[in-house]
Amino acid sequence: MKDEQKSAPQGIDRTEMFGAREGDEGIIRCDACPVLCRIRPGRSGACDRYANVDGRLIRTDPLVMAQRTRDVGGEMVPFLANEPNWDGNPITGSDVFVTGIGSGTTYPDYKPAPFIVSSDYEGVDTVTVVTEGIFSYCGVKVKIDTDRHIGSETAAVRSKGEHVGHVTTAEYGSQMLSLGGVNHLTGGTKKEGNITCGVMKALCNKQPVELTIDDGSNLVVQAGKAPVIDGIVEQRMRVGCGSATIGIFAQQWHGEADEVVVVDDHITGVLSEHQAGKVLHMPSTGIRMRGRRSTPGRYFQVAEPGSGWGGTDIKDPLEIIEGFDEKVAWPGMRLLMTSTTGEDALYCILDDDLNPAEEDIPHPLQVVVERIGENCEPSLSTVLFMGGAGGSLRAGVTENPVHLTRSVRNRLTRVTMGGAPVYVWPGGGITTMVDVLKMPDDSFGHIPTPAIVAPIEFTLARNDYAELGGHAGHITSLTDVVEEFMDVARRESSHPDNPWPLDRRTV
Ligand code: SF4
Repeated sequence: MKDEQKSAPQGIDRTEMFGAREGDEGIIRCDACPVLCRIRPGRSGACDRYANVDGRLIRTDPLVMAQRTRDVGGEMVPFLANEPNWDGNPITGSDVFVTGIGSGTTYPDYKPAPFIVSSDYEGVDTVTVVTEGIFSYCGVKVKIDTDRHIGSETAAVRSKGEHVGHVTTAEYGSQMLSLGGVNHLTGGTKKEGNITCGVMKALCNKQPVELTIDDGSNLVVQAGKAPVIDGIVEQRMRVGCGSATIGIFAQQWHGEADEVVVVDDHITGVLSEHQAGKVLHMPSTGIRMRGRRSTPGRYFQVAEPGSGWGGTDIKDPLEIIEGFDEKVAWPGMRLLMTSTTGEDALYCILDDDLNPAEEDIPHPLQVVVERIGENCEPSLSTVLFMGGAGGSLRAGVTENPVHLTRSVRNRLTRVTMGGAPVYVWPGGGITTMVDVLKMPDDSFGHIPTPAIVAPIEFTLARNDYAELGGHAGHITSLTDVVEEFMDVARRESSHPDNPWPLDRRTV
């Protein structure tokens, strides 16, 4: 058991569900998680999510109700606002969705979920089971749009010196981090677990987090914002790898340069040798590149990874050219070198000794270099939360949890998190992945075990709910939930990209 901490504001009364009075001093024991805090009057528990307010156990964050809206002339209005028969009631026609945010958890596992809400959606009697899941098995995937080398694959990622994850497989134009997970939360020291939990919660709540990578970069990442890498705000996500860039722009370079090299840490492209150059009948230039030739005009390992040109460590691109075959190259040959983002470019003409001499980039080539930049998307950090629905989550829905798993698998049950659509991994269990930017702000919390608390909702037809052994006796109508809690709820417009969570046709 753990003693209470700070004071807290008012929210939903959860005394009946999780509160037990202890002794004569007004102490309430919270049993919403295994920590079992003893909370004195006017104080909150170790997670700050429950407080003892005047002898009642109060969930301190407001319940979030998503409201369906649509764009009318650039203004987001209630979904039914333009319907001729709409009476102005915000809950008419199931336009409100009760999310798990602020709803409370279920512990021990067999308790029914905090809200099991029925509503009529387009003539279908629908049930949504609403809860805040406690996730010990969860992690965060971070996609960082950059060519720069931020650290080697598998290198440790740290926060405040603690190991919170690792660099994982790079993707097309992006570096990837895998953070959190049960091994960092529970398998190391208490400090490692707590810092890992804090990093995950902050990232999922769309806050900036500073990270360092062993033998790599310092990063500041925040969902939906440009990454800051070693103090520099990243601007552009590359148009493609070096080979793809050659393919895209070959025709536009043709006639303006005799050779183009697109420098890339992974695949450096050489126009005259590349299939794109061959199709345009470009003559060989006798260029001899560093690195390992994979296929014609495509070179691997021309330099070490780094934060120079195209994610390599080079500052002078001519370093990756070993020379020119004097039987093939010719004085006056025009050479353009560029990076995959167009941020770096160099133009040279070979002198009589076949040495490249730098010149101003001619206008037609400059236009194409700028077009590379124009085709780059803004660099962003993207944060996906990934977690597995375990015991308390599934038992809160049905007495026979495997039925829920099968129902999700058979697409009879739609899973959302904070009203946002999730990707459910194939295979066993209910392992979900969600883009935190599609969720309302401050959707995530934590408990000090440590574990992440995240909203999750299961929506299905009422007859299917009965068939899977759902807690049918605990169903409350949407109207009753809205009437009882609207005053203490936070109303959020549903994200415009999200399908309406009650609409199971879009499962
Ligand atoms: S940590 Fe939070 S949820 Fe867990 S017992 Fe304490 S107050 Fe309740």
